[in-house]
Amino acid sequence: MLIMKKLVNIFTLACAYFTSIHAIAGPLYQKKVSITFDDVPIHGEFTLSEQSLRKINKQLLDTLEKHNIKVTGFVNEGHLKNNPKLLKTLLSDWKMRGHQLGNHTFSHISYHQSELKLYLEDIKKGAVITQQVLGQQKQRYFRPPYLHAGETNESQHLLHNGLKKLNLELVPVTMENADYIYDAPYTKKLTSNKIKEAKSYKEQYLAFTEQRLDFYERASLNMFETSIPHILMLHVNQLNADSLDDILTSLKSRGYQFQTIDKTLQHPIYTQPTQAFKFGIHWLYRWDKSRANKVSWATEPEPSSDAFSAHNRAITTLKKETSHVSVD
Ligand SMILES: [Zn+2]
Repeated sequence: MLIMKKLVNIFTLACAYFTSIHAIAGPLYQKKVSITFDDVPIHGEFTLSEQSLRKINKQLLDTLEKHNIKVTGFVNEGHLKNNPKLLKTLLSDWKMRGHQLGNHTFSHISYHQSELKLYLEDIKKGAVITQQVLGQQKQRYFRPPYLHAGETNESQHLLHNGLKKLNLELVPVTMENADYIYDAPYTKKLTSNKIKEAKSYKEQYLAFTEQRLDFYERASLNMFETSIPHILMLHVNQLNADSLDDILTSLKSRGYQFQTIDKTLQHPIYTQPTQAFKFGIHWLYRWDKSRANKVSWATEPEPSSDAFSAHNRAITTLKKETSHVSVD
């Protein structure tokens, strides 16, 4: 009888413990992730040919279809302001394949360098062609360029209210892999037909992605003691067009289930207030700094200095070129 009573007590204690964790972080051990793409239909560090743009978008959409995954893409209309017809065609492909389209401003401006009024105007300006593509469907989500979401708690709050008036919700990021750092040298090597060297950047990128995923998984477990639904930010670029299959396969082998942003944002963790930051940083960092500070952020993997230098060299040469990229 005594043993039975003890067991009941242990069970009750365990339930109370798990209920409190559940209340914060949802079902235990179920890994979930939402995939998001910034800069649909192309990340704008340099100019690519129309043919390359079509190919990159098609490759990404084909890979998502292969894995049966629906994502949210944040549109940067300004980057194709001189070719609205192409912009419309590419955005229509995303919509027709069942993906959501959100807003990423027209001019890809930083909130930290703009007045709120002008910033909100730029958001409205960036929704025109997207809305024509969406028809009756409403845009619901917003991703701030550079993850600049307010330098002070007040400016963060003002942005939140401004977005609310536009019926938009800011979508945080909990995982990112510095894809743009590796994309520029990768694309540069492809345009110079240096396939072997291009491949080495892709390999570095995939290895770095694994390191970052390991780190974010450990960090979120430290912070919440269980899995939280993650939001991965990728950019629309040549490197991701060629790497997405590997990244999604890796996430699957890590045990992730994919879900849309609507579901992920319902999780209580995404309603927690966060302290404002001057620099663009993901939300795991923001939450940790706003709460118990459990993670050693100095150990977060960074791309090598070689990768940074290769990126800087590549964007200077690619900046004004119209590149035609052929990929194996
Ligand atoms: Zn962007």
